[in-house]
Amino acid sequence: MRISDHRYNGERLRMELALRFLRHEARTQTIRAWTGLSDDRIRKLYRTYMSQASRFLPRHRGKSPHQVGYFTRSQRSQHETAVLASVLSLLGAVPAAPDTAAGVPALARGEQLCQAFEAYRMLLPSSQITFEHAVFLATALARGDQLRLGGCGGCGGLMVTERFTLRTQRCHHCASPLQAH
Ligand SMILES: [Zn+2]
Repeated sequence: MRISDHRYNGERLRMELALRFLRHEARTQTIRAWTGLSDDRIRKLYRTYMSQASRFLPRHRGKSPHQVGYFTRSQRSQHETAVLASVLSLLGAVPAAPDTAAGVPALARGEQLCQAFEAYRMLLPSSQITFEHAVFLATALARGDQLRLGGCGGCGGLMVTERFTLRTQRCHHCASPLQAH
């Protein structure tokens, strides 16, 4: 079921999504992009939240992640990325077919993103992938310009690969050192 954005125009829903992003330690610029709230509103929301929060939430400033290599740099990150990408597409945070419009932040998709990330954290509690990276992954997969979701050349298992790679992609099981020698 696709819930269109017009149901999400209410200020309350913006604030709720901003809070959910804050709890996942999203950066201010990310919260601004996905909720449309001003930096000032986000700062106030953070202060209000922290005054009653049970744990300290760090505020991250500066640039959001933008290196696609992060998702393929090791077997571990490759595996975690494949699991996260599956959950993202299962819960609708990444469309079946990539297109530019789907990469644009929107309230409804922001909510799907949070749901997917929360489900993912339950599946892999020790994962090192941050929420900011999940946002980056969902956006890149939705646009399909830098990363794509595909099958391993060996077993067909789901994996995320860089869009313009020349090598045949194999998952870490198929590309294990035993078979490479
Ligand atoms: Zn494989």
